[in-house]
Amino acid sequence: MPKGRCHCGAIVYSFQGGARHSSVCHCEDCRRCAGAPAVPWIGVAADDFAIEKGSPVEYRSSPDTQRYFCGKCGTGLWYINENVSPGTVDIQTATLDDPEEFAPEKNVQMTDAIQWESTLHELPNFNRFPSDE
Ligand SMILES: [Zn+2]
Ligand SMILES: [Zn+2]
Repeated sequence: MPKGRCHCGAIVYSFQGGARHSSVCHCEDCRRCAGAPAVPWIGVAADDFAIEKGSPVEYRSSPDTQRYFCGKCGTGLWYINENVSPGTVDIQTATLDDPEEFAPEKNVQMTDAIQWESTLHELPNFNRFPSDE
């Protein structure tokens, strides 16, 4: 059963039944809420989702969207939008214990993407930092 957690471990969740979708969202709401250029998400059935530990803080980021995050360490964890995705909990893929298990299948909301995102793969890569190589 896949599990995930926030950075400090105060919130732990699990789910079963697999993912309904797996995508990377580039919208401005995700960007600002995560403080990151894009956010990978998987959608799971709400009935198959369980909070194993802790109580997340809720934040309404748009009229339909309720986001849940850890009030202690600030990690964004999941959101619920009953209009767009009824019966679904959308989980931030990168908070899974094994994010490799759910590779994204598509990019969405590219209209909002920061332009330099498209050239990140052209940058020099270092296993840690340039001074260590
Ligand atoms: Zn936390
Ligand atoms: Zn988004």
